[in-house]
Amino acid sequence: MNAIIRPDWDIRDAILEMGGTDAYKCYQCGKCMAVCPWTHVESVVFPVYRTPQSVKFGAIMSSEDTADIEREVDEIYRCVACESCTTWCPHGVSMPDIMRGIRRILVEFGSYPSELSESVSRVHSSGNPFGEPRERRGAWAEEAEIPSFEPEMDYLYSPCCVPAYDPRAAKVANATAEVLRKAGVSFGVLGDREACCGEAIRRAGAEEVFQEVAAANVNAFSDAGVRKAVVTSPHCFRTFDREYPELGADFEAVHQSQLFARLIEQGQLTPAKELGKKVVYHDPCALGRGSGIYDEPRQVLRSIPGLELVEIPNYSREYSLCCGGGGGGVWLERPKGERLSDIRLGQAVATGAEVLAVACPYCLQMFEDSAKTMDLDIEVKDVAELLAESL
Ligand code: SF4
Ligand code: SF4
Repeated sequence: MNAIIRPDWDIRDAILEMGGTDAYKCYQCGKCMAVCPWTHVESVVFPVYRTPQSVKFGAIMSSEDTADIEREVDEIYRCVACESCTTWCPHGVSMPDIMRGIRRILVEFGSYPSELSESVSRVHSSGNPFGEPRERRGAWAEEAEIPSFEPEMDYLYSPCCVPAYDPRAAKVANATAEVLRKAGVSFGVLGDREACCGEAIRRAGAEEVFQEVAAANVNAFSDAGVRKAVVTSPHCFRTFDREYPELGADFEAVHQSQLFARLIEQGQLTPAKELGKKVVYHDPCALGRGSGIYDEPRQVLRSIPGLELVEIPNYSREYSLCCGGGGGGVWLERPKGERLSDIRLGQAVATGAEVLAVACPYCLQMFEDSAKTMDLDIEVKDVAELLAESL
């Protein structure tokens, strides 16, 4: 016999207040479940279409049984905020917003995965999710002799925490700097005057910490006289572009793939060296579905002599499959067989490409990790690295 679920209006009201109002738009068609990347994982059943209904009845965390609660928390944190469901939902429901509303309650009660709570604490105390010293944030730029940002410069370059601290991803920041220098663009960095953009912790439900770090960044950018910022991460891009203005930010954000495409079009950059490689491009969720930027990274790749650009059949552009790193997923360990990056990398390898091109530091980390654990012979490179090689 099925258990009777008693409506809990207090939980419902709390989730709605925290941003889950889209639950009321849902009419239970089930399309979101059909397009969710978790349908590619045989061992996982993620009935996400039920979540809006559960919110409406306050049937979230309705059991007091520990195993039930753990299962429910795991389910709520399975969503990687890839926006595939949002793109195809006939009623415009934003499942990531509903999930964020639920997660805010879980964070308030401390009932969320420990890996995430540790990352949130580190962002709060050190300004980055790794717990690295704040004063080391600009070390990569000092080594590369990149100056501090000055108001008369064209752009602030904001590289994201991953390239700022991870030696592999720092190569992407270095390649970006090399490209901008060759194009004659003046730019500088804020180093330890900026901190994590807070996107991932906001998606994980840590709203208060997000508000704090985001407000500090908005003030730091304003104090430094930033008018335009070029960013490596599409997660920073979307947050700067859409969410910081609500906090009073007054600067224009551009993703580096957009700027590179423009510089090539204007003749400020001319890729000349032959690359001679077959490359497949993976649309990062935050850049593609999240920001509608599909063409510019492809324009950059097509401008490189000798580069053969191929697509993943059925799963490119708005149909792209998430790497699993969004929504805090980058900090969650998933067992083998449950890693979205493994599935996506398998799709890339099947095209026969020698290089998987990405435009997001999370994608870079997720796919490089999968390539190692799956022992697959494919290089993972950021579009900036391929462009820098060709100049
Ligand atoms: S696709 Fe949209 S309307 Fe359909 S079940 Fe999912 S959230 Fe509800
Ligand atoms: S945002 Fe992506 S992972 Fe989350 S429920 Fe929608 S399709 Fe699934």
